[in-house]
Amino acid sequence: MDCLFCKIIVGEIPSEKIYEDDDMYAFKDIDPQAPVHFLVIPKKHIQDADALTEEEDALIGRIFRKAGELAKELGCDKGYRIVNNCKEDGGQTVNHLHFHILGQRSLQWPPG
Ligand code: 5GP
Ligand code: ZN
Repeated sequence: MDCLFCKIIVGEIPSEKIYEDDDMYAFKDIDPQAPVHFLVIPKKHIQDADALTEEEDALIGRIFRKAGELAKELGCDKGYRIVNNCKEDGGQTVNHLHFHILGQRSLQWPPG
């Protein structure tokens, strides 16, 4: 399958790994939008949030909790933001479900 993030998971494309277990992979975003900006992705290829089924409920819960743990390990004690962009209007550019974690600066709301 021609998926950028699937290639990153298997190491075919290099990345700066932050965390990995059997189900998920976390790595630094190549174009950081904050001093801390990393992505957490399921190892299983899932296109986007709309493609989720009940089967992934526990996986997404684990990913979400791990995202917060990693943010704090990286110094985001004052807070952080977890973002999922879904499809065109959501600004999704890579079609493998991923969560952005941004921190170490005051983030604006609402986003543009
Ligand atoms: P999206 O726009 O789909 O929500 O987010 C995709 C993210 O993947 C972007 O923030 C982009 O900078 C990041 N990205 C795209 N290609 C690569 C890559 O080859 N390596 C890494 N580490 N990040 C990438
Ligand atoms: Zn993929």
